[in-house]
Order: sequence, then structure tokens, then C-alpha cells
Amino acid sequence: MPELPELEALRIRLAPRLEGRLITAATVNPKKAHMLRYPVEHFANELPARRIVSLSRRGKHLVFATELGGGGSDRWLVINPMLGGRFQMADGEVPVPATEVFTIRIEGRQELRYLDFRDMGRIYWATDLAREIPGWAELGPEADSVPAMGIDVFRKRLRRFRDELKDLLRNQEFLAGIGNAYSDEILFEARLLPLRRRASLNPAEEEALFSAIPVVLKRAVEAILANPNYEESKQDRSFMAVHMKGGKTCPRCGHRISQLGSNREPLNFCRGCQL
Ligand SMILES: [Zn+2]
Repeated sequence: MPELPELEALRIRLAPRLEGRLITAATVNPKKAHMLRYPVEHFANELPARRIVSLSRRGKHLVFATELGGGGSDRWLVINPMLGGRFQMADGEVPVPATEVFTIRIEGRQELRYLDFRDMGRIYWATDLAREIPGWAELGPEADSVPAMGIDVFRKRLRRFRDELKDLLRNQEFLAGIGNAYSDEILFEARLLPLRRRASLNPAEEEALFSAIPVVLKRAVEAILANPNYEESKQDRSFMAVHMKGGKTCPRCGHRISQLGSNREPLNFCRGCQL
């Protein structure tokens, strides 16, 4: 499931190729049309002739701001890829994968394709984000804004929640953008066990968590952008330390990495160096 780093890297890569460009056509794969939350005709009729003003990210959503020629009439295409959603930017001649949900043709023969192999992604065509997108109004600050927030505000925010640390980090009302994979990585970086309760943290541990969040997220964005062969659709996460590494050796202490939960949604951590 793409989380903040994957979506941020994608945004950095795609924005220069999309911002300011005109959409010339939009098509929906009839087999996946059920994934749209509004009539398919709207999509095909309303997107063309719009210009992509900006590409931004909010939590685990990618946000395409569009306007009609001449400005005004702002509307947003918002996509939360969930478990199996991926993006492909390709020349129009590259064959369309079977997992395609929709394709947006951009002036100059480029196509932005949204693919989904789990059919769980959420696609919104919205005029009012807070009203039309479930959970939008409740989203907490962006997880990568933690350094700007400062330790004191972070501590105050932290104390509003009672969850176990793993659930706390995945709670989008606490911070937006972190999911199952990066919560494992952040807790490993902070040397904290995932099932610890938030209330059990001492001030030094709170600070460790505060520091670990931006370190892990920034490092991941850099690792993704540094990989020239990175394929959005495959989501390579081999740079991770513990997530999906159950049974392997901890890179920090050599202990065997533990795994709880399913193979699909594992919870990984090291009993040797996380307390
Ligand atoms: Zn370890």
C-alpha cells in the first residue's frame, strides 16, 4: 500500500510532467467502472478540456487540482490507492495493463494511468474536499511536518491518544500519511516496541519517536527517488530495515526479526533492540 514516501516521490516525479498541462481525454475501463463513486460519463465528459493546475498530496491521497480553460470552476481528482492502487505514466503506445481503472490523456501523447490489482482504491471527483471525501476533515497534520511542529506541540498531540504505538502511527487523525509499512520502520528507528501503549512512553522515548518519524520518511523518499529503475507499479521496498523481513537478521543487532499478523499485513519488529 503506497504511503507518504511512495506518494511523495511519485508527486515529485509526476508534477513537472502534469502541472499546467491540458487533459485531452479520459477513459474508464468498463470492467472497473464500479470503482468510481459517480457516473462514468461524468469522468469522461468533465475531465477533458480541464487543465491540471497542481499535483499535491494529503496523507495517503494524491490530489490533482484542475480548472476549466480560462480559470475558475475548480475541481479535484483525488485518489487514495489503498492496497493495490498504482500509477503509470506512459507514452500512449505502451500497452495498457489489464489492471487499468482509468486513463487520462495529457496533451503531448502522454497518458496517466491508474491501475489497481485489488480494486480497493478510492477515486473522488470533488468540488468540496472536506465535505465529499470521508475522513478528510479529520486528517491530522502531515507526518513529514513533525519537525516544523516542534517537540512541545508533538508531545501535546501525542498525549491526546491512548493507542498502542503501532495503531497510533497508523491513525490518520494523529498524523496523516503513515500506514502499516512505515509505522514498523519508524518504531524500529525509535527503538520502541509496536505494542507499547502511548502512555508508557517516557519523555526521552517521546523524543525518540519525534525524531524517528521525519528521518524514516525522508530517507525513504530519497531511496525511492535515487533508484533509477524504480517502478511505481511494483513498489520496491527492499531498502526497509524490518518491514516484510520477518525471520531475517536485524541489521542493527543481529537478532531474528519477529513477525505478527498475516503475511499480507505483517507487523515486524526486533525484540533484540526495540524496547
Ligand atoms: Zn535488532
